[in-house]
Amino acid sequence: MGLIVQKFGGTSVGDIDRIFNVANRVIEEKKRGNDVVVVVSAMGKTTDQLVQLAKAIDDHPPKREMDMLLSTGEQVTISLLTTALIKKGFEAISFTGWQAGIQTEKLHGNARILNIETKKLSSLLEEGKIVVVAGFQGVTEDGEITTLGRGGSDTTAVALAAALKAERCDIYTDVTGVFTSDPRYIKGARKLSSISYDEMLELANLGAGVLHPRAVEFAKNYSIPLVVRSSMERENGTIIEEEISMEQNLVVRGVAFEDDITRITVEGLKDEINSLSSIFGVLADHGINVDIIIQSRIHDQTGSVSFSIKTDDLHDTIHVLERNKEKLGFDSITYEEGLAKVSIVGSGMISNPGVAAEMFAILAENHISVKMVSTSEIKVSTVIDQKDMEKAAQVLHDGFGLAQQKTKATI
Ligand code: ADP
Ligand code: ASP
Ligand code: MG
Repeated sequence: MGLIVQKFGGTSVGDIDRIFNVANRVIEEKKRGNDVVVVVSAMGKTTDQLVQLAKAIDDHPPKREMDMLLSTGEQVTISLLTTALIKKGFEAISFTGWQAGIQTEKLHGNARILNIETKKLSSLLEEGKIVVVAGFQGVTEDGEITTLGRGGSDTTAVALAAALKAERCDIYTDVTGVFTSDPRYIKGARKLSSISYDEMLELANLGAGVLHPRAVEFAKNYSIPLVVRSSMERENGTIIEEEISMEQNLVVRGVAFEDDITRITVEGLKDEINSLSSIFGVLADHGINVDIIIQSRIHDQTGSVSFSIKTDDLHDTIHVLERNKEKLGFDSITYEEGLAKVSIVGSGMISNPGVAAEMFAILAENHISVKMVSTSEIKVSTVIDQKDMEKAAQVLHDGFGLAQQKTKATI
């Protein structure tokens, strides 16, 4: 008998029937003799609707107030699910993030979990209770409610699994596992039976919304086996773990894509070395994530730097840079919206230097021009026009043979 953490996403708890379906999956696990902690998201599209409500007042609502608002979504679900479990004759109790002892840094909208005070949850589990916790939220040292970033309930679940030393964390969602690419958009996307933490971390960071990147990070750091599976269908999901059996000699394991990318260019850097460190320092201090960075030197001795960000951060980025213009020492800022990032990921790339070339060739054959590139040992990312995103992902998925059982062993 061990402890299992189960997490159910928005679609899986979208209405009362589905909440009863979730209650049944929880009860099944409990009847197998396990202790169960359940983490849930807000129902259906609740979080999006709450965002729209706030934006009807102000396009850039105060971040503290957004956390106050968005954290209510999950609070509805914990209460309804717990009520369903009690109605079915099981002892259950619900907790918000702060009640569950989930402490975060003080960064509204995208906080990291720093610590989980598990005493209360552990003693309730010992009493045999099913514990239901609100995903996506925590509390700072000084009692402020924070949220963990969109999709952050996965991270609540894995962090609880790590803190409570769970045997496994099961992420129940609206697809049957992790696929070679998003099955909603890519024809022939195929479910993977397993994938390594590192590959999953890259895919998640590069836009495969099926798992929150920090959830994968926690799972890797604490060696928590993570399973992604369907809350509706009864089939084996995908296991994410350290060592995976090489079911095929895969070079590329997945294609990820992400829209709403903007490229910012800061021109006329006077003192390039200091300006560069100050620019990225000041953006980091404001919680703005910078992705691909390209530096270039113009003839007149001044330099320029381009970098990509999420378009959601455009307003803050410009604001922060302009406010610090003197200190940062630059002339002007330009930007290009309407971009997207399409990436290929696979640990087989380490020993296959031709993969990036193959990727560019496939994109060129399809008349898709590449604006920025970044690589690591196990991924190649390209920034392209957003209008080409789905086509690029599809031709790369086809081109690297991901839909078939056998992938090219060498390139
Ligand atoms: P939940 O509300 O359960 O957290 P999400 O919408 O966050 O669900 O994540 C599930 C969705 O992730 C799927 O519906 C699918 O469209 C998308 N997705 C993106 N990339 C992948 C992938 N590689 N494999 C599976 N699903 C993916
Ligand atoms: N409800 C939050 C969101 O929609 C968190 C989550 O579902 O994981 O992003
Ligand atoms: Mg999710």
